Order: sequence, then structure tokens, then C-alpha cells
Amino acid sequence: MVRRMSVKPTVLKLGGSVITDKEKPLTPNLKAIERLAGEISRAKVSPLILVHGGGSFGHPIAERYDIAGGYADPSQILGFSQTHLAMTLLNSWVMEALISHNIAAVEVHPSSCAVTKAGRIANMELEPLKKMLKLGFVPVLYGDAVLDSEKGFAILSGDQLVSSLAIALGASRIIMGADVDGLYTADPKADSSAQLISHLTLEELKSLKHRIEGSKATDVTGGMLGKMHEVKLAIENDIETVIVNATKPLRVYKALKGEKVTGTIIEKG
Ligand code: ADP
Repeated sequence: MVRRMSVKPTVLKLGGSVITDKEKPLTPNLKAIERLAGEISRAKVSPLILVHGGGSFGHPIAERYDIAGGYADPSQILGFSQTHLAMTLLNSWVMEALISHNIAAVEVHPSSCAVTKAGRIANMELEPLKKMLKLGFVPVLYGDAVLDSEKGFAILSGDQLVSSLAIALGASRIIMGADVDGLYTADPKADSSAQLISHLTLEELKSLKHRIEGSKATDVTGGMLGKMHEVKLAIENDIETVIVNATKPLRVYKALKGEKVTGTIIEKG
């Protein structure tokens, strides 16, 4: 008999900065991957969807060939292939760790099942994902180079996949594993006076400012800016989101278990 999916899924994102060494091309952070696989295994959350970023695997090649800019020249085609290959290599490390921790993980390659329109998901085949979740599998997706109906191709970020899948599959919550403790009043890596925002409502999230020099408003930049845009879409659909530091032991575990944890909780309010 087919197991029924009684509870709403949880979507967990593992940031590329967490699972790779961002300074060294094509270098996985195997220690972090191994520890996180252990935490996910121990937490036993089901149904669970996992999404990971590209870090030093996808980004450098995608940038070199301007995959995100779309098709402009035949020389980019090989760059698309190389970007996707690099992501499958990183994905293999993640899959191996998950399965060795007895997690029934199955990778789902976004380039094979999603098409974007001007960089946003326009079509995605969800049937295999739904069936996997029903049987107790953990589908694993990642930021990937995908075909685009307007630009030829595009980069589909792990962050967009998270919000889009969470909405489409009726998730109850999203856990974003980052390399910082959560959302700060400024980039904590660039500003030592940045303060962690532990709780945020949708209204507060919408009024966040960015790149406003000298202002006391929250300065959201870099990867965090894109994340906040995606999170906003999820929160509008009533999906609570928590951002935790996945480079620190047990933060992801506690978030998965719904325990009190250092991080940023964002909810509709
Ligand atoms: P990932 O690779 O984990 O998806 P990114 O490196 O793309 O994450 O984005 C997270 C980074 O965003 C953090 O490491 C931090 O340096 C930067 N950042 C910029 N502004 C902020 C902010 N206001 N709060 C937290 N992080 C921020």
C-alpha cells in the first residue's frame, strides 16, 4: 500500500557557501556535508525536500559563460553543459553522504524538469516529486542551469527552487541553512556593528531597505537580498521561514525539530 502524505512538507536549503569552500573552485566542504547529513538523519523529518546551492561548483563556470544572461553566442553552449556537470558533481557528494546516513534521498535534476521564462520557473514537472514524497523519499534538488523560453537558458537558483517548490507542494515551513546566523541589519561580514534580527513579519520584510548608505535601515545585499525576495513569496503563501547558520553544529537539527534556535524567523504576522 502507498503511504499517505499526512503532514505538509518541510523544505530545507543548504547554502552553497556552507557545503563548498567558496574560495577554492570545485571544492566540496566534506566535513560540513557529512555533519549535516547526520543532523538531517537524526531529525527524521518527513516529508522533507532538500535543495542545495552551487558555491564554488556552479557559480564560477556559470559566470565565465554568462549563463544567467541567456543565450547570445554558440560558445556558451559548452559552458551550460559544464555548469550543469559541476552541479551534478557537487550533488553526488551530497547524495552519497545522505544515503550513507540511511536517508532515502533521490536527486531531481532541475535542468531536466524545469523551464524558466525570463529566469522565473514557468513549467516544472512535479509528479515524480509528489510521488517520491508520498513514499517517504527525500527529493534533492539544486541550483542549476536550465532552459528558458525567452532567453534560451538561465540560472535557476536554489533559493527560487525553495520558494517555488514550497508553494507548489504546500509546504508548512522553509529552513534556510546559511553561513551567517540569520538576517542582520547589515552584511555581518562587512559591518561588525550588524545586529541579528531574530523575528520579522511580512510587513517588516517588505519594508526592508537595501544599499542605502548611512541609513539605519536594514542593508540587505549579496546573496541575502535574493533570498529575502524568495522568502517574501513563500511568506505571502503562509509558509513560515527560518534562517539558521548551517556552518554551526546542531542549528539545522534544532530548526528541523522545531526547537528554539539562534536564527531569524519570518512569518506572516
Ligand atoms: P548561500 O551561498 O548560502 O546561498 P550567499 O553567500 O549567496 O548564501 O548569501 C548569504 C550571504 O549574504 C551572507 O554570507 C552574508 O555575507 C551576505 N549578506 C548580505 N547582507 C546581509 C544581511 N543583511 N544579513 C545577513 N547576510 C547578509
